[in-house]
Amino acid sequence: MKAGTASSGGTASRHDCGIRTVVMRGKSSSGERTQSMKLTRRDFLKISSAATAGLALSGMGFNLTPVQAYTWELRTKDAKETPTICCYCAVGCGIICHTDKKTGQVIYTEGDADHPINGGALCAKGASSYQLAQNPKRVTKVLYRAPNSDKWVAKDWKWALQEIAKRVKKSRDASFVEKNAQGQVVNRCMGIASVGSAAMDNEECWIYQGMLRALGLVYIEHQARI
Ligand code: SF4
Repeated sequence: MKAGTASSGGTASRHDCGIRTVVMRGKSSSGERTQSMKLTRRDFLKISSAATAGLALSGMGFNLTPVQAYTWELRTKDAKETPTICCYCAVGCGIICHTDKKTGQVIYTEGDADHPINGGALCAKGASSYQLAQNPKRVTKVLYRAPNSDKWVAKDWKWALQEIAKRVKKSRDASFVEKNAQGQVVNRCMGIASVGSAAMDNEECWIYQGMLRALGLVYIEHQARI
């Protein structure tokens, strides 16, 4: 256990398990009063960041106390907290997912400050993971725009998959290179390139690349490298 002095007027002790014990001291009419409470690192960061923001804005003359209290209540009060792992890459950052206990809907996600890998930080993809579940702009149907058309038409998945398969086969057959100039077997598909999506998760990327290699593609890229 390590001990230190808290900037808020009390003392804080850090335990190996990551839980901080904060001892607050204050004067009452009957003399000095001491309170002790246990905080996780996440609780500690929440309180610290709220206090910092409050100090900055109150310095401009705004009284934000009622607004801050209301906002915290709206977002996380009575929500169920579930630790989870970001689905997007092999770093495996920890995320806390807050869900409404009555509706089961996701209402907020944040980096898990107690997680040993990311310590509460998330990149842009992980930080937007809330929108995996909640985003009214998310496209949920297949939309097709024919060549030279300016209109999108809704199609079903059966039509879309058959159309994709038909076009992949046509391009692969037309551009397949079985042997190179030295007569060595190479089995390359030169007429199709793939730029992978950062919106795909780790397992999807693995399966997707396997399929592309099986088709013989050599132009395979991921947008995170561009
Ligand atoms: S995508 Fe970002 S937040 Fe998600 S695991 Fe990778 S680095 Fe972490």
